[in-house]
Amino acid sequence: MTVSGWDAEVAVIGLGAWGSAALWQLAMRGVDVIGVDQFPPGHTWGASHGGSRMFRITCLEHPGLVPLARRSGELWRELEKASGEELFVRSGGLLIGPPDGPITQGTLRAAETHRIEVEVLTAAELADRYPLHAAVPPGHIGIREPGAGIVRPEATIRAALEQARAAGARVLTGSRVTGVSAAGGGVEVATPTGTLHVRRAVVAVGAWLPTLVPGLPLEAVRMPICWFRPGDGGKGFELDRFPVFMREIDGGRVLWGNGRENGYDVKLGLEYGGGGFRPMDPQDTDRSVGAEDWSELARLLAVCVPGLDPVPARVAVGMFCRTPDGQFVIGSPGGDPGLIVAGGCNAHGGKHALGIGEALADLVTEGETRMPLDFTDVDRRF
Ligand SMILES: Cc1cc2nc3c(=O)[nH]c(=O)nc-3n(C[C@H](O)[C@H](O)[C@H](O)COP(=O)(O)OP(=O)(O)OC[C@H]3O[C@@H](n4cnc5c(N)ncnc54)[C@H](O)[C@@H]3O)c2cc1C
Repeated sequence: MTVSGWDAEVAVIGLGAWGSAALWQLAMRGVDVIGVDQFPPGHTWGASHGGSRMFRITCLEHPGLVPLARRSGELWRELEKASGEELFVRSGGLLIGPPDGPITQGTLRAAETHRIEVEVLTAAELADRYPLHAAVPPGHIGIREPGAGIVRPEATIRAALEQARAAGARVLTGSRVTGVSAAGGGVEVATPTGTLHVRRAVVAVGAWLPTLVPGLPLEAVRMPICWFRPGDGGKGFELDRFPVFMREIDGGRVLWGNGRENGYDVKLGLEYGGGGFRPMDPQDTDRSVGAEDWSELARLLAVCVPGLDPVPARVAVGMFCRTPDGQFVIGSPGGDPGLIVAGGCNAHGGKHALGIGEALADLVTEGETRMPLDFTDVDRRF
């Protein structure tokens, strides 16, 4: 312990996309903060790897998320300026499906409510402008959001940590927190090599949250990510011609992905689809992949995105937490001001990472946040 009686004013546990953003924001406010993670920055064990995450402001998951996405976009620009690195590529984005389906309805609702610039394309117009999307039924539509694009999670985490360090934060990696408990008016953060005594702790440990803070309505889920190569030797699927998209196909299933970018092949996945998408124990270190992770996707490619070799060039496994209502859980469980949790990203929290970091810093330093996030209250009824 230091002379002040604490090892740090605040500990941020978990330095994925959310926790690293919180560390950056707290350090920028001059808070004495230490960040702890079990793995090195940009690792491939959790939710924040794979080179890209879809960014859009038309948050069809909940209209209340729009201000958070907007603020995150601004903070990405700030982080890019501070780090001198491109972290957000505004390629535009496409939301495709039947006009009465959840993807297009949710997108248009968010666009109308929050006056977000979008362009609605008929199936014929979509085929004309984006010919790599095949077999879109005549009645379907494509909504183009020009401000959408991809953010680069690993680079964002590294940049946030670098800026946090420059502002005075300490970063401890390779250190697994084994327990977080209230003690002496503060919080004890236990690790195998010692205990940190801090006034407050922010716990942003992604899919491991149910392990560290039991009792929350969270379930860790395994989610495969696949990369495919064009059959013609690698041309024609660059991000500008095949921008980031979500596309409702048969039976309500959603295909998502983006074109080649920054050395990565064409990235594709199925939302809630395929045998590889299933609950998992976050402590299970098995990240091996098999045909169940990509076979269903490969079958769909021939129809929906012809031109790609149906055998993936690479397959990876991501892991996230889902909640019963699909929304995040943010706040102090049971009202304990010493502990603030942030989790339940439901695989749509990447675009909000920097805004969430700022909201967490607000909660630590001011006890509340300007961001209207009531619907994410950790103590809400499920
Ligand atoms: C396959 C996939 C695709 C996605 N696609 C999108 C998308 O297109 N758009 C979008 O907006 N969102 C998307 N998401 C969601 C987005 O990636 C996440 O919301 C975002 O990366 C935030 O992750 P996180 O920081 O909560 O978790 P993580 O990145 O998993 O970070 C948690 C950190 O906590 C650390 N940790 C855990 N336990 C401990 C412990 N006991 N002690 C110390 N450290 C610990 C871990 O090592 C890890 O670094 C996707 C998610 C997945 C899995």
